[in-house]
Amino acid sequence: MSNHLFDAFRARMPAPGRLLMETDDGRSLTYGDMLARSAQLAHALLQLGVEPGDRVAVQVEKSPEAVLLYLACLRAGAVFLPLNTAYTLTELGYFFGDAEPRLVVCDPQRAADIEPLAQASGATTVTLGRNGEGSLIDQASRQSADFHDVARGPDDLAAILYTSGTTGRSKGAMLSHENLTSNARVLVDHWRFTSADVLIHALPIFHTHGLFVATNVILMAGASMLFETRFDPARIVSLLPRATALMGVPTFYVRLLQQDGLNGQAAKNIRLFISGSAPLLAETHKAWRERTGHSILERYGMTETNMSTSNPYDGERRAGTVGFPLPGVALRIADPDGGGPLAQGEVGMIEVKGANVFSGYWRMPEKTRAEFRDDGFFITGDLGLIDADGYVHIAGRGKDLIISGGYNIYPKEVESEIDALAGVSESAVIGVTHPDFGEGVTAIVVRAPGSVVTAADIVGAVAGRIAKYKHPKQVIFVDELPRNTMGKVQKNVLRETYRDLYV
Ligand code: ATP
Ligand code: MG
Repeated sequence: MSNHLFDAFRARMPAPGRLLMETDDGRSLTYGDMLARSAQLAHALLQLGVEPGDRVAVQVEKSPEAVLLYLACLRAGAVFLPLNTAYTLTELGYFFGDAEPRLVVCDPQRAADIEPLAQASGATTVTLGRNGEGSLIDQASRQSADFHDVARGPDDLAAILYTSGTTGRSKGAMLSHENLTSNARVLVDHWRFTSADVLIHALPIFHTHGLFVATNVILMAGASMLFETRFDPARIVSLLPRATALMGVPTFYVRLLQQDGLNGQAAKNIRLFISGSAPLLAETHKAWRERTGHSILERYGMTETNMSTSNPYDGERRAGTVGFPLPGVALRIADPDGGGPLAQGEVGMIEVKGANVFSGYWRMPEKTRAEFRDDGFFITGDLGLIDADGYVHIAGRGKDLIISGGYNIYPKEVESEIDALAGVSESAVIGVTHPDFGEGVTAIVVRAPGSVVTAADIVGAVAGRIAKYKHPKQVIFVDELPRNTMGKVQKNVLRETYRDLYV
């Protein structure tokens, strides 16, 4: 048997001398280096007692070696389990207890604190630092650069990836070799990646966006990347002439628009700008187009499903939508309660099925059962609709739906109205417990620089446009919305902050 995902990368691999990545500190790594060094790391994993199916939990800074470690895990038949660098010791304790890794790889500076936690769950600890130093690398450097990949089939686990924890405690999504292989193949085709592409990679690699969308697409295309350890907007603008593609979260685009150097000339070699992980404001889409001449391609996915929809490569990339289901992905809008069909254009639960969809949550059989329909569709938890032209629109998360006076209110609809007003930069609309209405529609608004827009202006402006029950009962101004590392607005934090507003 072969190694399903790594063989797929091998099959598309360019000549060994071709560049895989160049880092912001001037290091470069070729495809040949990648093969040799991931082989050495795979040997080190086996020496450390990692057996096929064992979890390797990794909390390290972004570095080329961290990518090599991911590949080494694939080759050694282990289950790669990356963890957000922001997680505290308490959180790590939870993840180790839940995942029971055989091996924990952490930053040398945290090793003294992490080792006892890892030990308590029966794991060995080794280190990997941001400059490629550490005990794991020392051990790997003594190994052979040839490795016989461990056999892994399509259904074997390649990774457990924890969700972002935007709506509650993170869940471990079990992703198979075929989940990742099929999605990377589809994305390479759909977005037309070839070995001539150079991607600016400035995303974290503990999340599906930077790891499986960006990195797997590059490997599957035999392309290369400018590997940035952090997002520095001025630097990204200076890199644009050397690249052909950029993948980012919406905040990347917002912050790049604040750079004077961003214009059509700077972006003239880029063929594709892609956005995802959170909604891209239609206004950002428009401003980007005006400044650079490029229409950002927005796509939609989640940890559990990899990518499910994308705007078209050719054809209209429609602002405020996430495009069409990708080839091989079945997507339907269902009644959130019973799961029954809804009329075309109605808002309901987005459900998906396909080779991209995970097999379940790690050690949560009941939760897994509850999130799948009998016919195999996964209930995403996101609400949306399909418009007359087939474009999918995300209306927000089911958990963010507001029920006020017995009416359903989709926050996105109210936010879109508020965001369109002069003097408003952005907004988040949430439901806050209200003695009369159950929940009170509450708008948290960030003013545009220099704006003096008032709560009365905002309520007055939306009054003529949307039904009265959707009007904000209160408008609160803040300097910025709380966001996590992926640029997602943390509505649970806002709900907690304003929970006593109406009592
Ligand atoms: P948790 O499941 O732990 O609460 P999370 O859902 O934020 O966290 P991820 O898997 O990282 O964790 O994020 C997936 C979610 O991100 C989707 O369910 C959707 O709500 C949102 N999302 C992704 N892409 C888009 C997009 N283009 N537009 C709107 N929302 C998006
Ligand atoms: Mg989620």
